[in-house]
Amino acid sequence: MHYIVITGGVISGLGKGTITSSLGYLLKSHGYRVTSLKIDPYLNYDAGTMNPYQHGEVFVLDDGSEVDLDLGNYERFLDVDLTGDNNITTGKVYKEVIEKERRGEYLGSTVQIIPHITNEIKRRIRLVASKGDFDVVLIEVGGTVGDIESMPFLEALRQLNHEEGKGTFLFGHVTLIPELGENGEQKTKPTQHSVRDLREIGITPDLLFCRSKKPLSIETKKRVSLFTDVAIDGIVSINDVPNVYLVPDAMEKQGIIPFVREKLSLPQKEYHDAWAEYKENIRQPKEKVKIALVGKYVELQDSYMSHKESFSHVTGVTGIDVEIKWINSDDLIQNQEKLSDVQGVLVPGGFGYRGIEGKIQAARYARENNIPYLGICLGFQVAVMEFARNVLGMDGANSTEFDPRTKYPVIDLLPEQLGIKDMGGTMRLGAKKVLVKENTLARRIYGTDTVYERHRHRFEVNPDFIERFKEGGMLFSGVDEDGIRMEIAELRGKEGFIATQYHSEFKSRPLSPSKVHLHLIRQALEYKQNVVEATA
Ligand code: GLN
Repeated sequence: MHYIVITGGVISGLGKGTITSSLGYLLKSHGYRVTSLKIDPYLNYDAGTMNPYQHGEVFVLDDGSEVDLDLGNYERFLDVDLTGDNNITTGKVYKEVIEKERRGEYLGSTVQIIPHITNEIKRRIRLVASKGDFDVVLIEVGGTVGDIESMPFLEALRQLNHEEGKGTFLFGHVTLIPELGENGEQKTKPTQHSVRDLREIGITPDLLFCRSKKPLSIETKKRVSLFTDVAIDGIVSINDVPNVYLVPDAMEKQGIIPFVREKLSLPQKEYHDAWAEYKENIRQPKEKVKIALVGKYVELQDSYMSHKESFSHVTGVTGIDVEIKWINSDDLIQNQEKLSDVQGVLVPGGFGYRGIEGKIQAARYARENNIPYLGICLGFQVAVMEFARNVLGMDGANSTEFDPRTKYPVIDLLPEQLGIKDMGGTMRLGAKKVLVKENTLARRIYGTDTVYERHRHRFEVNPDFIERFKEGGMLFSGVDEDGIRMEIAELRGKEGFIATQYHSEFKSRPLSPSKVHLHLIRQALEYKQNVVEATA
């Protein structure tokens, strides 16, 4: 077993997750079996209760775990399905240790960070490593070196390196090389300091990923190498690329794999780049559509990371580029014209009343103007509410999440949610079976009668209203295994409208994009061509 640890220095937000995932993709392309885990040193048990404004999207795994969005990157780059064990947090570690102490399992000893907390961290890392026949385990440590919170994790990794023995561990460190002055002189001092901080805690990096505007000059690499002892071949220049799926190529060109192979004594294996054609489409798309993403966290686009990625997957597979027009739903209430130049509308998931009325307007505008629409989770629920209000004449129809006393509670709490008080990990979560009905748009989109999609919700379509929707022209073409939870909605006779209670964006992968995102983009292109024809 080999481990590659990726830490971060200087500042946060340097793209450690993308770098880790890209390295994973390259190792996989070179024939190695890889898994990946993320350490999040915050005290939260998991990401489920966190505001997207702080950490971006909450990603959901098959097993229902609510995890850091980097797990989404690993799944997409490595094309694997991970579990909650692949995300270690301080909350999970401490909870386990304290519960053990309460059970008396420490036999009277004083429970301490070293060794009890560090042992629990090592146990969790080894658990992930033992779950498959892996050549390499990638470990990404959240935060930046020097944070108090990450200390026990770095100490545990230092110990693990020592215990596993020579040639099993590589430490990679992500830093920033700022450029100053008119000729953009590359400054190495922050990197030197950051590496020094790492060494102080007993970790010597073998690899440096240096984020900079321009590629690192050879002089800069030499300077960094001189001050940090990292070999020149181990210094990788990371520069902006138009699409994250192009990062592996940039790393590959700098010879990172031969370097890693030699350091870890890995045998050479057969190389296969699964994304060759995919990347061509991303570099040179043939068509382009503009899609409105109507949400309330649009200032922080990471809140909708998996939707962005799903569209990118569609581009890779079809050659249709997707420009996202980010629209704050509140702005739509006064000004629906904002939707007049787009060829498709996506209303993603969300919680809480703020922004709801604008989302309802978006669904209405799309329906009335025949603009292709995709609703996901809350975007599914608002489409149902909109249809009830404006087509079925149920004035003030709402979700009881927003108006508990509405006359028409078309969206209501799931029965099993009654009486639930804890917020963490208690929604209807994870992959569930969805039955797709015959002779429907959904069936044509999926081409099969059963799909497994990931969920994250407390509310659902109220079964009492289903017949009325059907009579009015909205059908539920996908249902859960028992036939009582509505999973997919479509409008009779409308190819351009589809909405799902589940989050298809979480299972979208580069070579197999979310089917409903793909459908939206195909419809958007058709719509665009029709508009062009109509005006010609
Ligand atoms: N707030 C809605 C619910 O709980 C939708 C959730 C979501 O969009 N993820 O059902």
